[in-house]
Amino acid sequence: MNKAVKRGREFLHTPGPTNMPDRILRAMDRPALDHRSPGFREVAQECFERLRDVFKTERPVIIYPSAGHGAWEASLVNTCSRGDTVLMPETGAFSNMWRNMAEALGLKVEYLPGDWRHGADPEAISERLAADQGHVIKAVAVVHNETSTGVTSRLEEIGNAIKQTNHPALFLVDTISSLASIDFRMDAWNVDVAIGGSQKGLMLPPGMSFNAISEKAWHTSEKNSMQRRYWDWKMFMPDGKNPGFLSTPPIQMFFGLQEALIMLDEEGLHNVFLRHQRIATAVRSAIAHWGKPGTLELLSLDPREHSNSISAILFNKPCDVDEFRSVCREKHSVALAAGLERLAKQVFRIGHLGDLNEPMILGTLAGVEMTLKKQQISYEPGGVESAISSLI
Ligand code: PLP
Repeated sequence: MNKAVKRGREFLHTPGPTNMPDRILRAMDRPALDHRSPGFREVAQECFERLRDVFKTERPVIIYPSAGHGAWEASLVNTCSRGDTVLMPETGAFSNMWRNMAEALGLKVEYLPGDWRHGADPEAISERLAADQGHVIKAVAVVHNETSTGVTSRLEEIGNAIKQTNHPALFLVDTISSLASIDFRMDAWNVDVAIGGSQKGLMLPPGMSFNAISEKAWHTSEKNSMQRRYWDWKMFMPDGKNPGFLSTPPIQMFFGLQEALIMLDEEGLHNVFLRHQRIATAVRSAIAHWGKPGTLELLSLDPREHSNSISAILFNKPCDVDEFRSVCREKHSVALAAGLERLAKQVFRIGHLGDLNEPMILGTLAGVEMTLKKQQISYEPGGVESAISSLI
């Protein structure tokens, strides 16, 4: 047999990009068309409207043809001016990247230290804001679900804490790996700018990103002196109410987005969250079982913060994690994600968000368990059985 030939589908478990359902692929499979035609405008309009439901907001949502990084930058350049101070809790590699971006844009970042095993601390944020009598801090920027660690910050508590201090800082939230997979409520949790991306819970290709904008954030942007053009909210939404396009939109992706939003609506967002919770619980059950000899464990330490969209697994003993992932992918057709930055040599990640069901995750866990065995890592056999029990 030619070893290079692989049959069946590879199980994709990067926490973005995620699996794209056939329905979405088919919706996008269409020829070029005039984006100024009434037919396309209708599709786009439906997307703008339905997206509000996913963000749980009455406010408009701008769509950028860009990666999540673009929406990150847009959130900062529209709300902050050069020299402004932003309070950011350190949660992991993605809070680091957002921080670096803010500093590159000329902002001062007050980085609240974190250990990469816990989420942002609502009390620490509240204390810092309460101490800022001069209102130097212009924004608090939090990554809701830290994709590098599998830790979900308690956003509702953070939103309440900010509100109780009566501090005027805007609340910016990265929902890139939580949107449409973990509960997020923009309006109810007092979020001013919510940042999203297409390639995760929305089950789309990468390349589309979002800013949902509160009234307070919009008014701030109108007065804000930061130089900007492409990312300027006004370029995409001159009247502050009705989002549109600045440039040629990613037409086929709009058809994909329309289908994704219909699919989420059919299942019901609440059920989408429950499905993610169920699958994540099965994954955590397997990890806890495998880890009984003490060789590996879930990176996230606080059960209130375990992520339902991605789990990071920490090896407590030396292990060649790159080799582990390579064997899992090449021999068992399961693509796991690497540890990022300081976790690179100790962690692998299982993304479990988007278009996923129980047999798919059990197949993945079986691939991981086979790899544990093949690599002769000390583990307790039976993690897959434990996951099955948690699902029944
Ligand atoms: N924020 C989070 C939480 C992410 O997981 C990612 C990507 O994985 C990003 C931001 C950056 O998104 P992108 O790679 O689309 O620029």
